[in-house]
Amino acid sequence: MHEKCGVVGIAHANDAVARSLYDAMYALQHRGQEAAGIVTHDGFQQHEHIELGLVGDAFEAADLERLQGSAGIGHVRYPTDGSLDRSCAQPFTVSFKSGALALSHNGNLVNADDRRDALAERGHTFTSTGDTEVIAHELAAQLLEEDIVDAIESTMQRVHGSYSLTIMHDDRVMGVRDPLGNRPLCLGRIPGGHVLASESVALDTLGGELIREVRPGELIILDTDGSGYTSHQLVDAPNSAHCFFEWVYFARPDSTIEGRLVYEMRRELGRKLWAESGVQTDVVVPVPDSGRAFASGYAETATGVEFAEGLMKNRYVGRTFIMPTQAERERAVRAKLNPIKSTVEGKTVTLIDDSIVRGTTSRQLVQILRDAGATEVHLRIGSPPITAPCYMGIDMATRDELIAHDRTIEEIETEIGADSLAYLSPEAIADALAFAFDDLCMACVTGKYPYAVEGEEMDRSTKQALAPSD
Ligand code: AMP
Repeated sequence: MHEKCGVVGIAHANDAVARSLYDAMYALQHRGQEAAGIVTHDGFQQHEHIELGLVGDAFEAADLERLQGSAGIGHVRYPTDGSLDRSCAQPFTVSFKSGALALSHNGNLVNADDRRDALAERGHTFTSTGDTEVIAHELAAQLLEEDIVDAIESTMQRVHGSYSLTIMHDDRVMGVRDPLGNRPLCLGRIPGGHVLASESVALDTLGGELIREVRPGELIILDTDGSGYTSHQLVDAPNSAHCFFEWVYFARPDSTIEGRLVYEMRRELGRKLWAESGVQTDVVVPVPDSGRAFASGYAETATGVEFAEGLMKNRYVGRTFIMPTQAERERAVRAKLNPIKSTVEGKTVTLIDDSIVRGTTSRQLVQILRDAGATEVHLRIGSPPITAPCYMGIDMATRDELIAHDRTIEEIETEIGADSLAYLSPEAIADALAFAFDDLCMACVTGKYPYAVEGEEMDRSTKQALAPSD
């Protein structure tokens, strides 16, 4: 299961935490549209409401009223293959001798099956196939013997993979990031409380401010009265493995991740794209909305090139990516993007997007622009070729489905039907993000993974030190 999700946790001085969680989840909706859930605690008991669908559809005003308490966590879940699985919707809750636990997870464990087997042997029973339940059971088992900080530390020794978690133990809200910091998680202040969230846009919505990122391997515990927080650095790793794709595609452009505004990052990547492979054409056209920031950076550096909208997006068509069959995906691209003829007719065009995964979007768009009268269509992509699947939480199709996995750039160019095709280099990404290569996860580009994935090559031996223990 590949879950690319959004998480939030809030501790507040008053009782209206559900409304704030709801607003934060609205801001994180792009991270997951399949299901939305909130669990609160009123000092005596947990309250939960979890529904399939968008945040706005999943909650009625009466649901929020029922979610009593000043502490709570929330989750938005990403669709994978279009199938709806209620048992995997989150937050995941479990009640046991030492209290009530609720967990929201963004990421993906790489040793979930092993841990599930080990726990099952010790008598644990599982109600879902998701790896979040594995973390919940590990934690519940440890809490019978240890305090919460030690229990989380022990759990982090056992589970391996990517996780940004918000956790609620009774009415205590916490946030944890895996030792390599693969998925984002930030800490902020709002009037009357503190917040942990996948992205800083959640804080903006709540009228709050970003304090900082949660560090890789760090546990943050929010004070139950919302007044502050404590930090525990539980695991230290020699490197990080921040997912570069968060900046390239996944995060909202108005979010700040690791101190870098995503929009500015994308514009910088666009400038680098021009520097590396700029081609002189009459007009530069972005693929809306994913290519827009890249195209504006690209066109800004290019001289004598017009920057114009050449494709209009029908905002009511859902994400093409989750369509189960290739034919449906192709039909959906046409339904979603329509050309603005006057921008492209009789002109040479550079089309800019953030990434190519299967190649469906690019192939269709090149044809759409040609049909609209473009005399040449050159494609420029703001990331390197995606050649390997992601096991760390981004649903990116299987290796066989990835157009770049067994093709040269010339072959992809032919397959897509572009007059020319160029991708951005991995070096340009590391440079723009101002990270050392060793602190970024580019497994989908290099095929070398920062975590031990069965049957796959592992990156950087230093990270082996983080192998799970019993
Ligand atoms: P494809 O048509 O399969 O080549 O997908 C590429 C398009 O999907 C680009 O326009 C990207 O912005 C977008 N995209 C890239 N990665 C993902 C993802 N993990 N989920 C949904 N859309 C994506």
